[in-house]
Amino acid sequence: MEGKSLKFLRGLIDAISPSGCEEEAAKLWKDYVANFADKVEGDVHGNSIGIINPKGKPRVMLAGHIDEIGYMIKYIDKDGFLYFSTIGGIDTHIMPGERIWIKGKHGTVAGIIGRDPIHQLTKEAREKVEKIEDLFIDIGVKEKKEAEKLVSVGDPAVPAVSFEELKGDRVVGRAFDDKSGAFVVAETLRLLSKSNLEAAVYGVATVQEEVGLRGAKTSAFRVSPDIGIATDVTFTSDYPALKSETKRTKFGDIKIGKGPVIARGPNINPKVFDMLVETAKKEKIPYQVEAISKATGTDANVIQLTKEGVATGLVSIPNRYMHTPVELVSTEDFVNVSKLLAAFIRRLEKKTNFIPF
Ligand SMILES: [Zn+2]
Repeated sequence: MEGKSLKFLRGLIDAISPSGCEEEAAKLWKDYVANFADKVEGDVHGNSIGIINPKGKPRVMLAGHIDEIGYMIKYIDKDGFLYFSTIGGIDTHIMPGERIWIKGKHGTVAGIIGRDPIHQLTKEAREKVEKIEDLFIDIGVKEKKEAEKLVSVGDPAVPAVSFEELKGDRVVGRAFDDKSGAFVVAETLRLLSKSNLEAAVYGVATVQEEVGLRGAKTSAFRVSPDIGIATDVTFTSDYPALKSETKRTKFGDIKIGKGPVIARGPNINPKVFDMLVETAKKEKIPYQVEAISKATGTDANVIQLTKEGVATGLVSIPNRYMHTPVELVSTEDFVNVSKLLAAFIRRLEKKTNFIPF
């Protein structure tokens, strides 16, 4: 991956942007996309839209959600301990012992989720999972008043981890779900910026996916696309806990570093699927296929149902350990997803028809 792209990716991942508080990441995204899009817009919901060839036909919407899962402060007790709920789905198993960054009114406040010492835990307590309402964040203050100078009820928070490079093309951090997708949408716009296109391209960094696909719903209404492709992350079955054949028979065989994952199922227009596969073959881009037999849990779900219906596709990035602070992905997969989406859009003609039969 090129230096500028990697720097942008690092910035996006490190920006604190749980659903409903995406402004820090959205600003970075808009500034980056403004370098090559014909137009960059924002809407009242917080979605950011980079546009290339706005008058073209067909109209294509690319969607990658820029929000991340996180925490929200619910209550501050008299001793200044903070109680919280989750924004999106987080496994309570991984919370005790986490370091936390809270986005307070005067800047980031560091804290930790405390846990009783193992010596003091009964056998039953060691085996049980804590309830979230019993967990608390300690920011090192002595009392409520002191805490309230820094933190307010409703402030968002995230695990205090940053983007880190591992071996080869592997990188780790929080929020690759789905700033990977928002990144890939921006990179696809960059790749297309000098192309001669028939299609109009609306690349959207959508908000609030993790709390119900909400930004894709409002932005798809505004863009009114003929074709909509969501880019998100997807599960892999290539690490010990899921390596057994039994797990693969349930979740499929998806590996990190093996290229874009093209989804197939009722949420996907069959012609869009076929064209994505043909494009990957023609361009010699490695790809994998995943079967999703119901509405996907991605922006593709609501995009398909916009107005009288949209020809929808879903191209995903394999992500190990999704919804943990150690989401692990391959930057080579990012490069290949952007290449595939750009090549797909270059092939679109005014007359391309996606009515399935
Ligand atoms: Zn997610």
